[in-house]
Parts: sequence; structure tokens; C-alpha cells
Amino acid sequence: MAARALEEGTRRALSAMVIAVDGPAGSGKSSTSRGLAEALNMRYLDTGAMYRAVTWWMLLHGVEVTDAVAVAARAARPSLEIGTHPQNPSITLDGADVARQIRTDGVTAAVSAVSAVPEVRELMRARQRELIGDGGIVVEGRDIGTVVAPKAQLKVFLCADTAVRAHRRAAEMALDPALDVHSVEEDLLRRDSLDSTRRTAPLTQALDAVVVDTTSTSLDEVIEQLVAMAVDRVGMVRDG
Ligand code: C5P
Repeated sequence: MAARALEEGTRRALSAMVIAVDGPAGSGKSSTSRGLAEALNMRYLDTGAMYRAVTWWMLLHGVEVTDAVAVAARAARPSLEIGTHPQNPSITLDGADVARQIRTDGVTAAVSAVSAVPEVRELMRARQRELIGDGGIVVEGRDIGTVVAPKAQLKVFLCADTAVRAHRRAAEMALDPALDVHSVEEDLLRRDSLDSTRRTAPLTQALDAVVVDTTSTSLDEVIEQLVAMAVDRVGMVRDG
């Protein structure tokens, strides 16, 4: 998504803005958030990647991920670095690039258990707030508009029909949609249920979030809608 030509005042306001993009797995958060950040010349933070990296660390070190006490005891051990450039959102763990490892099936199956542990969330939340800093960033996750950045100037909650989400996820993973879509759908529903029912910072829509259903809208159209919303919001804040 090419960067937009924006007037100076708008650009300045966007450089201090936080856009929260929450929603269930496969709703299009990552592609949308990256495209939006590129279009508006903002930074981009994938908070799911942070939970995935901690999960990868736990698996690598033989920690039983369903043992919340064991996970909590080691929550501070992984040394995580995350880049916020939308075209290259790098992630390293103990100095090693783990961008590929964090997308493996083992991590996807274990991440909801690890991210439900309050000590893990507390550390991630502090880190995410540091990275958000003074703004100029699109942040995607599950609890951004509700917990991490409750004062975000624009909050978006993306959703889509389960079957559509499963098809998109299968295509992203280069699976054969005709063969694998059912198991992908089961995995999405399992994660949604775990993520929405955990006690700490569950996946939920902020009361002041704009709900955008991406079921029958193309990625470019969704990004266009959000660009317009963000520019509008900036105008509303400035006019005041
Ligand atoms: O976005 P993604 O599907 O990569 O997120 C992986 C997992 O990380 C989610 O299923 C959820 O358990 C956890 N997560 C979270 N809070 C966030 C972002 C992700 O609990 N803000």
C-alpha cells in the first residue's frame, strides 16, 4: 500500500496518533494494520507476534505451557526485540530471528494458553506501551483498545464470517483450502474461545470501537475505509 500524500497538519497529527486494531484470528488484522500503517506513514506493532515469541521460547525450553505457574515463573526470561517498520516487522528472541518459528503449528496450538497467564500479559503490556511511546503507530491484537491503549484515538474491531476467516488463513499458510479448511476453522474457533474467555484482558470489543466486517470486502477496500476514518478523526481532534 503506497504512502498517501497528506497535508502537513494531518501528517503531524497522525505522528501522535494510536490506532488500535483488535479482532479474532483470521479477521484480517495483520494485512489491514500493515497496509494502514504504510498508507499513513505510521509504525506498526504486531502484539500477537510477541505472545507467539514467548510461546516459542517456552516450547524450546521444555516448559509445559498448560502449567500456568511454570510459565509465570519464566515469563521474564525471554529477551524479545520487535521492530515496528510495517514493511519489515522483525522479531528476535535472545538475539535470533524467530519470524518463521513463531508461525509454526506448535506455537499456534500453544499460544492461547501462554497468553492467558497474567504475569506474561503484564510484561507484554508494559513492553507494548513502551513501544507505542508517543504514538504514530497502528497496533494490532486482542486487548489493544480495551487494555493496552484505552485512550487510542481510533479503535477498530475487525470481524468476518468464520468460514471466510478459515479460507483466508488456509490461503495465507499456503494450504490447500479444499482439503484443510475444516481443520483451520476448528483451530480458529478453539483459539477465539480460549482468547475470549480468559480472565485477564480477554478478546473483546471496546465500547467505543468501530466494528468493520471484512467478510465481503477486499483488503484494499478495508484499508481505504480505515484511512478515511483516521484522517477524519484527526480533523475532528484538530477542529475540536
Ligand atoms: O494475532 P495472532 O493470531 O498472531 O495472535 C496469536 C495469539 O496471541 C492469540 O490467539 C492470542 O492468544 C494472543 N494474543 C493476545 N493478546 C494480543 C495479541 C495476541 O492474547 N494483544
